[in-house]
Amino acid sequence: MPVRGARGGTPRETASRTVVEDGLVEVTEGLVGPLLLARGTIDRSAALRQHPERLEKVWADDERTRVVLVADGRAPIGNDGESAELVLLRPSQAPAGDRYLLGVDEQGVTYFAVRPADGVPGEIPGGVPDRARWEGLRRAGSLLGDRDAGLLVNAVALEAWHSTHQHCPRCGARTEMTAGGHMRVCPQDGSQHFPRVDPAVIMLVHDGDRCLLARGPQWPQGRFSVLAGFVEPGESLEQAVIREVAEEVGVSVTAPRYLGSQPWPFPRSLMLGFFARATSTELRLDPAEIAEARWLSRAELREAVEGEELMLPGQVSIARRLIETWYGGPLPGDWFGTTRPE
Ligand SMILES: [Zn+2]
Repeated sequence: MPVRGARGGTPRETASRTVVEDGLVEVTEGLVGPLLLARGTIDRSAALRQHPERLEKVWADDERTRVVLVADGRAPIGNDGESAELVLLRPSQAPAGDRYLLGVDEQGVTYFAVRPADGVPGEIPGGVPDRARWEGLRRAGSLLGDRDAGLLVNAVALEAWHSTHQHCPRCGARTEMTAGGHMRVCPQDGSQHFPRVDPAVIMLVHDGDRCLLARGPQWPQGRFSVLAGFVEPGESLEQAVIREVAEEVGVSVTAPRYLGSQPWPFPRSLMLGFFARATSTELRLDPAEIAEARWLSRAELREAVEGEELMLPGQVSIARRLIETWYGGPLPGDWFGTTRPE
């Protein structure tokens, strides 16, 4: 649906092919900027998971197999503030621990993640550069290349699942990891359990001229984002958008429009992004969910972020992409108080 442009001006042309006609802006496809956690390039190689003997053979190939260490959502990363890359070890350099198959790239290199059994090693093995340190996706995600971003999202998501789902939900027995880390099996009743993904809707609510941004009760002053919430059992995505907005801010919305998705493995969400048009604008906040909410025109939004009165989510988030897509181009600053993520 067309939404009105800022100050009658011309928002920067972007990859989303924002169209400006007579002061009306229509986003005709996609989001402004890439979804930085949805960039994997390697083949996830589901077939290989089913062959334990082939997995062992690939693991034994120290020349063509590489390993990402993962612990508590972080991995060793070389980061100079401009770009970042995963520290990739040979299998012979990796510490003992659970092993997850991540996939195979076009050159035939197979990638595994290893969760060290003895926790985070004090020193990163393998003679890595001095600049390498343990980092997570929120900070390093926007600086990693496509391959590494995809590898790390996969590794972090699998690690988070295994670390919290070690017992059978039927009988309580301790389950065993199998299928290259993509399944757990109960030794008592044979039930199979797969990595969980929890769908969550995240929506930019607008009334044509203004967008609605809000601050959660635990967030510091000035941190704002769009609304979001988990999809409930028996609910469609569109119903979840309408319900969440009504619950959190008391606003009615119509015609949710899907714009894209990306994994958000903190610990296991899949964020599904929408625009939704408000049919009412009076705010009735649920204080358990929302401390503060504001309607902002594009000009007001720009002024607020330039003055650091209002800080937007980081570049890796789909929230940021939704806000900049509605605005029509990049905006400065983020929750970390920097113009560029660290
Ligand atoms: Zn069981």
